[in-house]
Amino acid sequence: MRTVQTEVLVIGGGATGAGIIRDLAMRGFDAILVEKRDLTHGTTGRYHGLLHSGGRYAVKDPKAAVECIEENRILRRIMPHCLEDTGGFFVVTPWDDPDFGDTFMEGCRKAGIPVEEISVAQMLREEPLLNPNISRCFRVPDAAADSFLATRLNAESAREYGAHIWTYHEVRDLMMDGQRVIGAVCHDLVRDEEVRIYADMVVNAAGAWAGKIAAMAGLDVHITPGKGVMVAINHRVLNTVVNRCKMPSDGDIIVPIHTVAVIGTTDVKVSDPEHFAIEPWEIELMLDEGEKLVPGVKNMRILRAWAGVRPLYQETKAVDTRDITRAYTLLDHETRDGVSGIITMTGGKWTTYRQMAQVTVDRVCEKFGVQRECRTHLEPLPGAEKHGGYHWLGARFADVERRQAYGDLICECELATREDVERAIVQGDAKTIDDIRRMVRLGMGPCQGGFCTFRAVGLLHRLRHPDVEDANAALRDFLQERWKGLLPILWGQQLRQERLDELIYLSVLNVDHLPGPKATPLAPVMYDPPTGEEPQARV
Ligand SMILES: Cc1cc2nc3c(=O)[nH]c(=O)nc-3n(C[C@H](O)[C@H](O)[C@H](O)COP(=O)(O)OP(=O)(O)OC[C@H]3O[C@@H](n4cnc5c(N)ncnc54)[C@H](O)[C@@H]3O)c2cc1C
Repeated sequence: MRTVQTEVLVIGGGATGAGIIRDLAMRGFDAILVEKRDLTHGTTGRYHGLLHSGGRYAVKDPKAAVECIEENRILRRIMPHCLEDTGGFFVVTPWDDPDFGDTFMEGCRKAGIPVEEISVAQMLREEPLLNPNISRCFRVPDAAADSFLATRLNAESAREYGAHIWTYHEVRDLMMDGQRVIGAVCHDLVRDEEVRIYADMVVNAAGAWAGKIAAMAGLDVHITPGKGVMVAINHRVLNTVVNRCKMPSDGDIIVPIHTVAVIGTTDVKVSDPEHFAIEPWEIELMLDEGEKLVPGVKNMRILRAWAGVRPLYQETKAVDTRDITRAYTLLDHETRDGVSGIITMTGGKWTTYRQMAQVTVDRVCEKFGVQRECRTHLEPLPGAEKHGGYHWLGARFADVERRQAYGDLICECELATREDVERAIVQGDAKTIDDIRRMVRLGMGPCQGGFCTFRAVGLLHRLRHPDVEDANAALRDFLQERWKGLLPILWGQQLRQERLDELIYLSVLNVDHLPGPKATPLAPVMYDPPTGEEPQARV
């Protein structure tokens, strides 16, 4: 057992936790972040990919809309290389109320969101695949965002300022001294050992898991996990983020991100943030609704489906999870519950993570009785200056051409080279193939790992020298994880692809019978079959 002492312990390595640790480190705090798997293992790595302009909340949730546009402006300044400046349209389809457009414009103006109505002819010039029966179109400053990269860069910056980021460290209990939280008991999953971290202050940034962490100190934090399913289409059918112009509901956005376009999403109350299934009706609904925006989308190749869980906080029970504000909440448990040494930051969106971090660290400063100014809105994330602008779709291809690295691709679908994968393993400290995926998008393209997984495992084995059994298990972990997202969409071309992948791995490589355990303790834990008695309610 190891024992360490720090000023602030942050629990959760999603966008919020990574933002908080960076802010803490920049303000001179001695801080440690623990995450039970890899960074972005939670909702941050399973979201839609949208930098909100606030338009989506302009009518229904004006507070959230204002937060979004404020942060939209800041994030464009500090992390342009994590964003693609796609712009956004809100469109009125034949299924929507055309008068809502005026309410929408008014809501945007009140929230300070730049909005202009453009002609349908102009819209179709820019996005020819959109439904020609759309009657109105409004332009807002939405963008596509890479949350894997942004979170990693927040962590990198935090490290440069002296913070420690410990992934694969799961908090199993909080340590108490009377009514004060004094630290956490963690399990280091890699070394399989207990670590006790004593801290003057614990920050609970565990997203949809925040209620579980709070319960370890006997605190009641009511989080309603709202599951949202998304579907990736194997084409950039659009280059602009397109939203339906109506009150937020199911399947009303398509986001172009990297090489794909993502249709989303649903909102279903689940009892546990980890144990839930992607239901066939959710996929059908996404495609039916997507068809209203882009006719023909249903017949395109669908790559995979995934789901994330919204950390929606409320003090009283909700019926419809869409009625809960998307704005965030800071809970000071000393004033709320009489338990000191812990605060919880919950709710919000990816877009507002930096502001959430600032508010949290302001409170930490208050608790420590110090005054230190936040600078995260001023100082760009690592690489922003060198990169010199927004991410663009052709960037990877241009890089491969510049390096003449045509024969050196490990993942042909996403153009990840050997150098990229080796960097992810050595400098990025990847422990699993899924960690490599989050860094270089390995296995996220049409073949879903068919041709790159065994190559990546080979590199991991050569560079890290794990036992052959462990390398085999790492291979199985990754294939199993990919499989979870393929199962709900197995038809057409993707079914043929999966049959080929099955032949490669089960017939040629005999992966199921290679020596070693079936799975490792580092395997991702999302989408395990539901355990709760309660059926999943469609809302
Ligand atoms: C379907 C869907 C689509 C969305 N789309 C968008 C969008 O397009 N734009 C946008 O701005 N927002 C979007 N959001 C919201 C956004 O994704 C979330 O608000 C945000 O990612 C939450 O980040 P977080 O860091 O608070 O939580 P998380 O990313 O969930 O991080 C919490 C972390 O805590 C870790 N953890 C849990 N328990 C423990 C433990 N015991 N020990 C250690 N670590 C632990 C988890 O593994 C997890 O990594 C979407 C949400 C959903 C569900």
